[in-house]
Amino acid sequence: MDYLIIGQGLAGTLIGYRLEQAGHRVHYADAAEQTAASSVAAGVINPITGRRFVRSWRIDELLPEARELYAQLENTLGVRLWHDLPLIRTLFNRGEQNDWLSRGGDPGYAQYLDDTPNLGSLPELTYPAFSYVGVRQTARVDLRRLVQTFRSRILATGRFTASVIDYGALPPGYDRYIFCEGWRARYNPYFNYLPHGGTKGEALLVDTGDAPVLKRMFKHRVFLVPQIEGGYWVGASSSNAFTDDGPTGATATFLEDRLREVLRVPYTVTAHLAAVRPTVRDRRMLLGRHPQHPELYIFNGLGTKGASLAPLGSKWLYDLLERGIPVPAEVSIDRFSDQGAG
Ligand SMILES: Cc1cc2nc3c(=O)[nH]c(=O)nc-3n(C[C@H](O)[C@H](O)[C@H](O)COP(=O)(O)OP(=O)(O)OC[C@H]3O[C@@H](n4cnc5c(N)ncnc54)[C@H](O)[C@@H]3O)c2cc1C
Repeated sequence: MDYLIIGQGLAGTLIGYRLEQAGHRVHYADAAEQTAASSVAAGVINPITGRRFVRSWRIDELLPEARELYAQLENTLGVRLWHDLPLIRTLFNRGEQNDWLSRGGDPGYAQYLDDTPNLGSLPELTYPAFSYVGVRQTARVDLRRLVQTFRSRILATGRFTASVIDYGALPPGYDRYIFCEGWRARYNPYFNYLPHGGTKGEALLVDTGDAPVLKRMFKHRVFLVPQIEGGYWVGASSSNAFTDDGPTGATATFLEDRLREVLRVPYTVTAHLAAVRPTVRDRRMLLGRHPQHPELYIFNGLGTKGASLAPLGSKWLYDLLERGIPVPAEVSIDRFSDQGAG
């Protein structure tokens, strides 16, 4: 079959890759001048999130699928994408400590919690906090490298068009079209009946020169994620009210103020990143086939957790495309069938 993937961020890359592996002809279109969330994200995989220490939705299924698919992509592309990295987070007070300890009594949580993490060089590099705990089975996936390396590959084989797709005149000659447009899906007349949200996020890249680098991710006021090339990704802000997707001075100040409360070594800011996360009201992915146009599909709604969600999400969509297996009801766009498709 001939496929056109519209949008080659994380979603488009993963579903396209699966289809290619199955022997289909896949072409990609992406608007090169737009910023993809995938090229800004830290790519953190974190099974326990939020102030209530909640285990992420379906994490026991998501993790093995993610490990396997990113490993396959590493082999195909010849680059390293997956970095096992421990995550240390702080507790602010005794109440939080009690909440954390009570989670440990739940068998579904125990494999992810580390009450006495090895702090490494954390005490030298950061200011002291009330207490520290660890999350297990965490990782960082280099999404930017994935999207860029994949882009070079499809460019080299003539399977990439740098353009915004005109919805009124979809390029002819394809059997199926899969829209993977991230937050901009709200402008897609075929799928704009779905409750697309959008949460803008900004982050900084900082260089700490000759200071020892923390070989852990650290969450305290901001998230510090060590980078392969040295220094840290520091973020991120979160805003549902935005007028554009570019960086703002106010958010840079906000992030730096927080960073100064955490990091005790000198640093310089080397980049300021911004993009919009494709969030959905009910926090579930958007997968499926258009109710009136059977050749049109969507893969969206990766929200704040694309790195862990997209591998299994792309498998579900692949199974629908190849085998007609319905995607789980929780992520199917059919859950919004009463909204009136365009
Ligand atoms: C600051 C920040 C930090 C984040 N940190 C993490 C993290 O640590 N862990 C994690 O799991 N997730 C994180 N995320 C979320 C993650 O980035 C997203 O879940 C994921 O990257 C979304 O991928 P996507 O392919 O759906 O969208 P995108 O990456 O935005 O890609 C969509 C692509 O479609 C293109 N496009 C749109 N419309 C059209 C059109 N009509 N024609 C052609 N091309 C089009 C766009 O140009 C873009 O390239 C973060 C996001 C941000 C902003």
